[in-house]
Amino acid sequence: MKYITLANGVKMPLLGLGTFLSENGTDAYNSVKWALEAGYRLIDTAQTYGNEESVGKAIKDSGIDRSEIFITTKLYPGKIGYNNAKKYFEESLKKLDTDYIDLYLIHWPSQNYELTSECWKAMEEIYRTGKARAIGVSNFNIHHLENLKKTAKIMPMLNQVELHPGLRQLHMQKYLNENNIAINSYGPLMKGQAFDIPLLKELSLKYNKSIPNIITKWGIQRNVVMIPKSVTKDRIIENFNVFDFDITGEDMEKINNLNITRRVYSDPDNAHFVPLKEII
Ligand code: NDP
Repeated sequence: MKYITLANGVKMPLLGLGTFLSENGTDAYNSVKWALEAGYRLIDTAQTYGNEESVGKAIKDSGIDRSEIFITTKLYPGKIGYNNAKKYFEESLKKLDTDYIDLYLIHWPSQNYELTSECWKAMEEIYRTGKARAIGVSNFNIHHLENLKKTAKIMPMLNQVELHPGLRQLHMQKYLNENNIAINSYGPLMKGQAFDIPLLKELSLKYNKSIPNIITKWGIQRNVVMIPKSVTKDRIIENFNVFDFDITGEDMEKINNLNITRRVYSDPDNAHFVPLKEII
């Protein structure tokens, strides 16, 4: 396994399992179980995925020491706010059946800067209790981060964004590097659209690796945390099989310079989750 070191010194695996749409119950439980057996040590979940109980149970049942496993979870989109961050953090601890979370993220920014900053204050307080080893954000554009800078005592340690061969996020990564914030990709397979990209087919043949392997290794070599999701045992094992080859600098550049721009999820500036004012 390869790791990155977050701004506060915490080490995070560069490869993990995604669990969006892995249903609580058999799918989420088995996928986490198989992933841990295959050697994964990072599991990415979120309150809104509704599967924290099964994720937590699979981690417990694995018998692997908790300190060896890195759990990311995220505050419900649309429930951003000071009290909610704390309330739902405690709920995540219970559901995941753990004493601490490795990385707690704000899932989506609000376009209301003030609300986002208040929420971040709660995230900082959670971090100071030691119950979250690291804190960060997801789907933050640069303007959201610049706004946070005005009031934050601690800057986010990571930003999880849509990142794949159709949306390479080189500019975002440069900004995050300059601000000592790690980057985590989501949606690496572009909801299946990555399989149609001719360059990736070519590189898959050249390296004798699957297209998901090529994408994952491309991310890891850029120091991007990669979390491909699958509930299929063979795919989970296959997706981990990326540590026995390297992509040349020239091929890395070819992917970085692909002439396509395609989002498969919403642009954070255009996806509005209504804050539930009454419980903030
Ligand atoms: P991915 O790009 O990881 O693609 C998942 C899909 O690809 C599933 O349908 C899966 O099928 C299939 N798949 C996986 N491996 C293979 C393979 N080797 N060959 C063929 N098909 C394969 O999508 P996600 O959108 O799930 O992103 C990954 C993770 O990122 C999420 O699970 C979640 O943890 C996180 N995320 C975060 C978001 C955020 O807002 N912060 C938003 C979206 C995702 P199957 O499961 O049937 O095997």
